[in-house]
Amino acid sequence: MPSTATEQTTLAAKLIRRIETDGPISVSEFMTACLADPEHGYYTRHDPLGRSGDFITAPEISQIFGELIGIWCLAAWQAMGSPDRFVLAELGPGRGTLMADALRAARLRPGFGDAATIALVEINEGLKTAQRTALQDLATPIWVDRPDALPSGPLIVIANEFFDALPIRQFVRTDKGWAERMVGLGDNGSLAFGLQPLPELGFSPPADGNVPEGAVYEACPSATAITAALSERIAHDGGAALFIDYGHAEPGFGDTLQAVRSHRYDDPLAHPGRADLTAHVDFAALARAASGGSEVRPVIDQATFLERMGIDIRAETLARGQDEPTQSAIASAVERLAGTDQMGRLFKAFAFASKGINLPAFDSTG
Ligand code: SAH
Repeated sequence: MPSTATEQTTLAAKLIRRIETDGPISVSEFMTACLADPEHGYYTRHDPLGRSGDFITAPEISQIFGELIGIWCLAAWQAMGSPDRFVLAELGPGRGTLMADALRAARLRPGFGDAATIALVEINEGLKTAQRTALQDLATPIWVDRPDALPSGPLIVIANEFFDALPIRQFVRTDKGWAERMVGLGDNGSLAFGLQPLPELGFSPPADGNVPEGAVYEACPSATAITAALSERIAHDGGAALFIDYGHAEPGFGDTLQAVRSHRYDDPLAHPGRADLTAHVDFAALARAASGGSEVRPVIDQATFLERMGIDIRAETLARGQDEPTQSAIASAVERLAGTDQMGRLFKAFAFASKGINLPAFDSTG
């Protein structure tokens, strides 16, 4: 096994002890520990977002992002017949910025705010405090730690950069068939990747037969399980879902496990619990998972979603009468969000809804 210099974080030491006792762990078990270990996990310990954190997300770039999603939620609620009670949920709300901007925009229409129970799915205690503060003049949210614990009833659920943080399993094609990529110990005793042959294939890669040796197939069982459950529930209770994340719309192969620390790429094994670990979201897999319940829309890219929701008009309104630095800051934020060489193409928007609901940006308005 090639080994990597692993900084001796407390979590690294804990993982090394675990592997010494129980043997190598899957990439999924490694990610789960790094992101959600109750004591040392990346998302349980600290605030990863913003300039001083490890990465910046779309709602932190511009208020327009959340506002347009708020308008999307408002239109979905109206298409549902403006129910006088519904749950407006967000998975992984970060600092609460997206929900705050969304509510500010959507509450311009009377009735929406009164009808909505705001429910936030979050595991990070520090971020819950930030979310409470962001929403203090807008709503009194409730928190749950899993999507299946959301209150019942009609549901509109949104998520931005939530699914990329869920643990993936990686399968590698070898000359002897498929093997699972594992995290074990290298010669020097630090964490190292290795392979474990699969006695039986507990998953279905998009194609077999002609897969080249070395090809990596990724599966995210929790993402597909969450999507399937929400889709069934929405089909039953009524509602709509909008997930935005970076990833691919076509099934494919490739190692997309990525670590980011202080706005730089990092070795995924180097700082367990101290770097953000993500993987591309496989939207084809999410679409398959959702297809058993609700009506699934084709995946579109973030640029298309934002353009159809009116990002240019909103930017123009915001910029009107402002000084030059403010105007150019708005223009560069729009470019970052919707520019095709920036977030516009890599990020995708995926939606599904109960029967007969017209979803802005996804369905024709005709
Ligand atoms: N949506 C926000 C934050 C993205 S970061 C934004 O766009 O800025 C990922 C978010 O998901 C954080 O709030 C993190 O604490 C939360 N999260 C990560 N894993 C989670 C899990 N398994 N269950 C619930 N929330 C999780």
